Amino acid sequence: MKIHNFSAGPSILSKEVIESAAKSVIDINNSSLSLLEISHRSKDFVDIMENAQNLAIELLGLENKGYKAIYLQGGASMQFLMCAYNLLETKAGYLNTGTWSTKAIKEAKLFGEVVEIESSKSKNFNYIPKNYFIPDDLDYFHITTNNTIFGTQIKDIPVTTIPLISDMSSDIFSRRINFSSFDLIYAGAQKNMGPAGTTLVVIKENILGKVKRNIPSMLDYKIHIDKGSMFNTPPVFSVYTCMLNLTWLKKNGGIEAIEKRNNDKAKLIYDEIDNNELFVGFANTEDRSAMNATFNLVNDNHSEIFNSLCSKANISGINGHRSVGGYRASMYNAMDIDSVKVLTEVMSELKNKV
Ligand SMILES: *Cc1c(COP(=O)(O)O)cnc(C)c1O
Repeated sequence: MKIHNFSAGPSILSKEVIESAAKSVIDINNSSLSLLEISHRSKDFVDIMENAQNLAIELLGLENKGYKAIYLQGGASMQFLMCAYNLLETKAGYLNTGTWSTKAIKEAKLFGEVVEIESSKSKNFNYIPKNYFIPDDLDYFHITTNNTIFGTQIKDIPVTTIPLISDMSSDIFSRRINFSSFDLIYAGAQKNMGPAGTTLVVIKENILGKVKRNIPSMLDYKIHIDKGSMFNTPPVFSVYTCMLNLTWLKKNGGIEAIEKRNNDKAKLIYDEIDNNELFVGFANTEDRSAMNATFNLVNDNHSEIFNSLCSKANISGINGHRSVGGYRASMYNAMDIDSVKVLTEVMSELKNKV
């Protein structure tokens, strides 16, 4: 039975990736050993790690530009503190566009002064602030490119003279961006890249080594880079599955091709939201996310019947986050447009039922 899984995260992966990942648990590279029981220092795994790092750099178009890719643990939430630990000497700027930015700001405050350059909090984060000024005396400026919970996405990446850091957990590898505008990008794997358990960090190496404080080894980017992401035992299953997924992405035309598919899916759902008088979108139109579409029923009394139509159509995971309510359809890279069609058909069918 085909379930249309709109979960915001952990999210879907392609069937092909799941099957290869499952096979590796039984037998990796025809070795008669499980991926889970081989040394992370074995050639089999060292090759997997290098491949996962190289694919990330290649797909982002960052080859030969001074960037390193590492796979760490602790989720994107660990990066909230780790980027500040490594890079915040006196003062940093943050754009507050939602729950995750707010959490990043809270952690950074442990390490220095944090300036909230702009915030969309007063409107429950339903838009992306624009036309703000970024002072050049900051150690860095931090943004969240896609706000998973509120369904907004930064379309125009700010231009800065200072290092630019982004949490791209929920839209990395989903659209073309000039990734070399960033000095540090991090993304928890479980939204658009793989299973939970690892976080991709892509760093321009020359921004490191500038803060005076001592950094514990496990939290020091330089150490993880120098050790090739093998300072301690890496989360082998998660890294392997990310590698499979990035291989799948490359084979399917890379970011350029997936962006087109993602835009087609987004257009389909937003057209339905705009043309169906029973629904209303949550996010400001021009800031709508192509990954997470947030919307509400105009009349809450219709929710019971809409929910039951959804479950009859095998649609799962579309309940909105508690801070927004309503519905959220997450349409990460691995989702087919056919699943989005099933959802828009159900939304349309609701008109005949109420
Ligand atoms: C899910 C999410 C996080 C939190 O990720 P963890 O890996 O669970 O720590 C951070 N930022 C964004 C944008 C997210 O979507």
